[in-house]
Amino acid sequence: MAIERTFSILKPDTVEKNKIGEALAILESSGLRPVAMRMMHLTRKQAEGFYYVHRERKFFGELVDFMTRGPIVAMVLEGEGAIAKYREVMGATDPAKAAEGTVRKKLGANIGENAIHGSDAPETAKFEIGYFFPGYELG
Ligand code: ATP
Ligand code: MG
Repeated sequence: MAIERTFSILKPDTVEKNKIGEALAILESSGLRPVAMRMMHLTRKQAEGFYYVHRERKFFGELVDFMTRGPIVAMVLEGEGAIAKYREVMGATDPAKAAEGTVRKKLGANIGENAIHGSDAPETAKFEIGYFFPGYELG
């Protein structure tokens, strides 16, 4: 399998709960390696642009409120088959449906406040990495 890069955000709830280390430990032990990392407080404009695909969804305003309420950790993760591997280790969008051992099962509160973000496909990984770390896209 090819070495890939994917994009990750530890969302404001994870930072608020002092769980950055715990989230990173799960990711690192699954074989994903951070190759770029930035802590930042998103503006509404940045959050809206990042989640642009969801702009018509009824939860969009709530999602932007949540993502801008405190600092986040944005990262590029690298590894074999990193995009699919990371989706697996994140767990289902709704933490109540997430598998044991996943970040969302361990740290997520509900479908909105679900601890972590990850790219869902190669094209989205490329867009999302470029949004925060231009030049770090692979392929
Ligand atoms: P993400 O893109 O953050 O990695 P995901 O790909 O699992 O999550 P998406 O369908 O892309 O899920 O939704 C993006 C984010 O919007 C979710 O992670 C969650 O924070 C929020 N969200 C999704 N569905 C709902 C909902 N029904 N109610 C409230 N918030 C939601
Ligand atoms: Mg998504």
